[in-house]
Amino acid sequence: MRCDKIIKIIEDWAPKSIAWEKDNVGLQVGSLRREVKNILLCLDVDEKVVDEANRKNCKLIISHHPLLFRSLKKLDVVNDKKSRIIEKLIKKDITLYSAHTNLDFTKDGVSFQLAKKLKLSNQKFLVNLSQNQNKLVVFVPIDYADKVADAMHNAGAGMSGEYTNCSFRSIGTGIFKGSEKSNPRFGVKGKIEKVEEVKIEVLVNSFDLKKVIAEMKKVHPYEEVAYDVYSLVNENVNYGMGVIGELENELSQKDFLQLVTKSLKTKNLRFAQGAKSKIKKVAVCGGSGSDLLDAAINGNADAFVTADINYHTFQDAENEILLIDAGHYETEIPALDEIKNRIEKSLTDKTKVYKYTGSTNPIVFYNN
Ligand SMILES: [Zn+2]
Repeated sequence: MRCDKIIKIIEDWAPKSIAWEKDNVGLQVGSLRREVKNILLCLDVDEKVVDEANRKNCKLIISHHPLLFRSLKKLDVVNDKKSRIIEKLIKKDITLYSAHTNLDFTKDGVSFQLAKKLKLSNQKFLVNLSQNQNKLVVFVPIDYADKVADAMHNAGAGMSGEYTNCSFRSIGTGIFKGSEKSNPRFGVKGKIEKVEEVKIEVLVNSFDLKKVIAEMKKVHPYEEVAYDVYSLVNENVNYGMGVIGELENELSQKDFLQLVTKSLKTKNLRFAQGAKSKIKKVAVCGGSGSDLLDAAINGNADAFVTADINYHTFQDAENEILLIDAGHYETEIPALDEIKNRIEKSLTDKTKVYKYTGSTNPIVFYNN
């Protein structure tokens, strides 16, 4: 399979346009037109990852963290690690692609996989994104309403959490007068016409908007289609940050700490004591999720599991919520299994999907 076909599987799930605006997701090095052979998944790319990809005949590496984040002024393969990795990728004809905050912000993405490891049920986004949504309003003659609505839904319009095909319809009168050069499907040119119309309103993610309008126009009977697009500031229930859910049985703080340690195979944890002796409702965010502490507290979570927590954030949490720093690498690595499953399900040939066998975690614990 070609790289771009594999990448489509990722981007249908985690669209690039939901990523943080300062992020650099997508193609990092190489070509998306390349035939893939095998695929290697990893959190970070270093020279050892590229060597393993080469040994396993992987022509595509998919990493979570982008290799290229800050701009490079030169490729110095003697003094700069990153330059050497790029050189190696190019010499070995390996394409590198990254799915970073788009994978963090999508359903079943990084935080959902962390929640799954902790066996949380009733998983929901902790905070929904408030961007990337539009309201598309189309005016259609009554007899064409179903056809036009179907075309828009099939192109991705009208999705709201667990619901699809959502729309609102109201009936009114459309009024128009065609010029001498017009070719009206209804009425006569040069004469004011009144047509009973349906106004269809649907939600559309901004990255689907072009496609939805094109498909709508294909089946709409008017020469000049009347439609409006509004930008929304609503919460987007389809994308968000962090996850909140519940343990099957409540646990003591100590037992919950043990569950986190075992489930994430981490050797050590840092934490601040919470207010409650029993833990049932749990918020999680894979990677650096300190900014979601207030959302976790306001969501009545008894514990919040994330990473990269600083001293003052622990201070803010103390006696409010059991705040656990379970490690950046440890809280994100479960996501690779979901990427692997999704690609494998869609493969039409013998391409193999591997997870990097080493660890790219730079943090180690000192044991006396
Ligand atoms: Zn990360």
